[in-house]
Formats: sequence, structure tokens, C-alpha cells
Amino acid sequence: MTDPSTILKEGDVLRLQVSPQYATIKIIPNNSSEASDVNFPHNLHNAVELFLKLGMVPQAVNLKDRVDIMLERYKSNPDGKSGVRLGQACVCWHCGACGIPKDYAEQLGTHDHQQSSSSSSSLPPPGPCYQCNETNQINWIRVTTPEAGQFLPWIEEAAMTEDQAKELKVKKEKELIERRKAVEASVAAALAERDNTVVHQK
Ligand SMILES: [Zn+2]
Repeated sequence: MTDPSTILKEGDVLRLQVSPQYATIKIIPNNSSEASDVNFPHNLHNAVELFLKLGMVPQAVNLKDRVDIMLERYKSNPDGKSGVRLGQACVCWHCGACGIPKDYAEQLGTHDHQQSSSSSSSLPPPGPCYQCNETNQINWIRVTTPEAGQFLPWIEEAAMTEDQAKELKVKKEKELIERRKAVEASVAAALAERDNTVVHQK
């Protein structure tokens, strides 16, 4: 029997093809030393490369899951109807999560409408990560248009909170369990059928 973890790993590698749009999502350095560091990943394309270089595959997958949902949302719901949340997102180097950080509304407040600055000086410290609470290894990111480099808000499910992220994880695990249960149930049914047949034959 195939180990489910092997299937997931293979699937994860397959899902790691990132679109060129990843390079248009810029990472904002937290300070001048990050800004002048030649190895600093300047966009999410670099971020995925960095994760993979370091063997941090789950983080790369986590990042890709979030970003693909966001890009998809831009295609399907660009006018920001109800059910979505707009803001500025962070990339977390600890878990790979990308999204609007915890306590975003409270923290950013007035900064929310001042997204025209290209430096981090007008922004509060990034984070905490909505998924793992990281506050150190985390940076603000900015979605930009490919042509003019204009800033766009990050767009995500209104309910994409820490709980929501956990739910997503649990859901994936549940699906595996459900699949296994279905197999077990059909085996049990087959056995019961056989037992019944045996009883009736007596
Ligand atoms: Zn995190």
C-alpha cells in the first residue's frame, strides 16, 4: 500500500510551478541592512527559490497555496465584493504563510490608506504572522502591477484568519481520512455481505 505522505510530497513538488506574477509581488526590507543585502529576496519569486534552496519545501508550498488563491481572487473577483478582505500582507520566513497579519486593522489603522510609499518607514513592524505568530522573520509584501509597478492591495477571504488556515489544514487531513474510511466501509460491507451469505447458507 502506498504511504499517503509520499503522495502528498509528490503532489507538493508538482504544485511548485510559480507564475511570473510572483516577481511582481515585492518584499519590503525591514531595515537598511536588508535593503543593501545582495542576497535579500526582493520578490515572492525569489522567496520560493530561497525556500527551495534551503530545503524548506513545506514553507514553499504554503507560500504558493496562499499566493495562488490571492492571484485567482484577482481574476475572479477584482472589484472586491463582500466576502473578501483587502489590505497589506506579510510573508513569513518561518512557516511560509503569506497574508494579512494578525490584528491588521488595529495595527495599521491610518497606514491603511498610505500605501504609496516604497520604503518601510511609514509602516509599523510587520506581523505577527496570522498562521504561526512569527514577529521577527517576517516582511511586508506589496502586490504591484506588472507594467507600471503600481501598488495593489492584497486580497483574501474575509475569514482567512488563523482559525481559517488551521481549518484548511484540517480539511486536507480529513479528506485523506475520509478516503481511507470509505475504503474501510466498503471492505466492511463486503465482509458483512459474505457473513450474511454464510449465515443463510447454514
Ligand atoms: Zn508564519
